[in-house]
Amino acid sequence: MVTRLYHHPIFLEHITPPGHPERPDRLRAIERILDDEAFARLDRKEAPAGDEATILYAHPESFVDRVRAAVPETGIARIDADTTASPRSWEAMIHAIGAANAAVDDVFTGAADNVFIAARPPGHHAEKTTAMGFCLFNIAAIAARHAQKRHGAERVAIVDWDVHHGNGTQDIFWEDPSVLYCSTHQMPLYPGTGAKTETGVGNIVNAPLSPNTGSDLFRDAFLSRVLPKIDDFRPDLVIISAGFDAHHRDPLAEINLTEDDFDWATGRLMECAGSYSNNRLVSILEGGYDLQGLSDSVSAHVSRLLRG
Ligand code: ZN
Repeated sequence: MVTRLYHHPIFLEHITPPGHPERPDRLRAIERILDDEAFARLDRKEAPAGDEATILYAHPESFVDRVRAAVPETGIARIDADTTASPRSWEAMIHAIGAANAAVDDVFTGAADNVFIAARPPGHHAEKTTAMGFCLFNIAAIAARHAQKRHGAERVAIVDWDVHHGNGTQDIFWEDPSVLYCSTHQMPLYPGTGAKTETGVGNIVNAPLSPNTGSDLFRDAFLSRVLPKIDDFRPDLVIISAGFDAHHRDPLAEINLTEDDFDWATGRLMECAGSYSNNRLVSILEGGYDLQGLSDSVSAHVSRLLRG
């Protein structure tokens, strides 16, 4: 098994206002932990710049132009209450998209079995025409469509264990039976979507978790709702929207997972990828705002990817 990591210093250049939880130090903490000898086998690559045309797989051109125009020449521009852009945010975004699309290429050509993308800003709150929740473009959605358009994937499963519901991914695929979107998330919590009753065309599986719950209910949601749906769907590719803010240390939510839960969930999804997708699995960083909780969780997640 080859596990590849995409990273790039440009991801540190998306600057958010002082005190903002989605900050460059998140990636510094991840780089620090992945520098450990335990990760010597990781196949590290610099994220390439992506093809801007692929953004149109998930967003209309008018929206792409709006985001481009919002990127300031100096300082920080506010896009909504908690979503901002700085002068190099566009470049960071293009490399995040480039990394995710390259990761898809890697798993379809056999250059890698699975790939982790340590990029920011995150993407899963970005709807077709709305940047929100720290997210500008929906990287996982673009990568899923890239797999379909470039590699002929018929069915792509996106599993989102970020503690916030991925309203953007749900919005983009709401009427698309070729993409399965499964999310575990705290409810009630930002952005307010993600009820069990939101099912799209039968391709959306929401498994909301009550505040102050943890491992047992998370694993139960996986075993009873997410995994059976993936078994029925038989995806050609598994994409993980890998947010680690359901960790008990995270300041933005009240779900009490540990790094062991991320190890476990990674293992279950690798089994799915092994059964249906020739092991093809692409994991894209989303949230995770406590640096210790984030780096411990990424360590567990990537260790599991490497173990095969
Ligand atoms: Zn989140």
